[in-house]
Amino acid sequence: MVTRNPVTWLGSPKFPDAARTALANTQLRSNLRKATGTIRGRRASAVAEMTDWEELRLAGEALKDEVLTNLDVYLERLEKSVTERGGVVHWARDAAEANEIVLRLVRETGADEVVKVKSMATAEIGLNEALEAGGVTAIETDLAELIVQLGHDRPSHILVPAIHRNRSEIREIFQREMPDVPEGLTDEPRVLAEAARAHLRRKFLSARVAISGANFAVADTGSIVVLESEGNGRMCLTLPETLITVMGIEKLVPTWADLEVFLQLLPRSSTAERMNPYTSVWTGVTPGDGPQAFHLVLLDNGRTSTLADTVGRQALRCIRCSACLNVCPVYERTGGESYGSVYPGPIGAILTPQLVNDPHDQQAASLPFASSLCGACYEVCPVRINIPEVLTHLRATSVSARGRTPESIAMAAAAWVFSSPSRYERAQRLASFARLLGRNGRITRLPGPGAAWTSSRDLPVPPKQSFRAWWKENRG
Ligand code: SF4
Repeated sequence: MVTRNPVTWLGSPKFPDAARTALANTQLRSNLRKATGTIRGRRASAVAEMTDWEELRLAGEALKDEVLTNLDVYLERLEKSVTERGGVVHWARDAAEANEIVLRLVRETGADEVVKVKSMATAEIGLNEALEAGGVTAIETDLAELIVQLGHDRPSHILVPAIHRNRSEIREIFQREMPDVPEGLTDEPRVLAEAARAHLRRKFLSARVAISGANFAVADTGSIVVLESEGNGRMCLTLPETLITVMGIEKLVPTWADLEVFLQLLPRSSTAERMNPYTSVWTGVTPGDGPQAFHLVLLDNGRTSTLADTVGRQALRCIRCSACLNVCPVYERTGGESYGSVYPGPIGAILTPQLVNDPHDQQAASLPFASSLCGACYEVCPVRINIPEVLTHLRATSVSARGRTPESIAMAAAAWVFSSPSRYERAQRLASFARLLGRNGRITRLPGPGAAWTSSRDLPVPPKQSFRAWWKENRG
């Protein structure tokens, strides 16, 4: 039996349908416009301070490509380094295998509650749901993740999962769902953060197991790196007895010197900060200091098949900074949930279909079309992923997987017409009959197979006389 890859959410509609619903939500659009507009401006100023930004981007791209080309070598090096320093490495082919490993490891400790550091990899595999099904409660400790979790909601941004919520909505969620919510809670950001801090403090002190993702892993030394802004992650990484890290196999850097490039690229691209507020690094276990058991779960889940695609593999360079989301005109209007995946925005449009790796999955196959191809995402990407190039490449894959459709037949007919001047002229004469369908200079609904074309766009009414006919009459 083929199990579903939870990187896309079960029951999500295709992007155009989800986007239509989202566009009708004016509150969502206003929340997003405000948030992305602010962070866009701040990022641009933070990047403008760096005179060598382009060189850093080129270095980031080259390093990631070097890792992807020799992934097997670096992964084995990482496994050896982690093991030598007292950690245990586990290999997971897919989400189900990774979830099974983590659940078994948690059960072995006897714990029924774990604290979590914000992690895209664990969201990608649906770990929280898998743990819950196995009788283990996972508590998100990142403030935005906590808001999403308490609101029984879905994340809509890589970095700020609750970007679609404003502060009065957050207050309402806390009041409704937080068991120990303080009396007289207001919607002041400081008050909301304080309520979350008090709620989480008890969890940090009682948790025996923590689960994290990883931003980077240094193959040479087996060191794992997590970057975060609040410090809650650091509590999880130091207080519990057991630490389990789930990491995509592409997150490697060869050496500490290489890490330095990404520690410059990531904060400015994601939060517009010159330096990351909390950078936690750990290497295996250290007796008497920090977690005494460390497990690293190396996750494939569609990455090796992505690597096999020579155009699409550049998506694996992604360092999840979210800069591409914040500049994307489509994301700004539709929000993250429309993408139906833990990876929204431009990176989601190219990464999700590749991880799903099923050209017949209609929802995932619709994602490469969720773009205006304006190229803003490519311009801001700190590791120079040519997102428009991958989008068009995946569009072609998706179209050929669909086989013959009314649209492909129409396109083939158009190619036949355009290849002959006399056919083209006759077609123009025929097209002038379409004037009968127009009103106020526009055709809003074509009959038959043309209906799909006009379902999301209008057509200008064809002119009474074509340019060719005019030329023949006046100058010919
Ligand atoms: S694709 Fe580039 S800009 Fe987008 S999240 Fe990844 S690294 Fe950042």
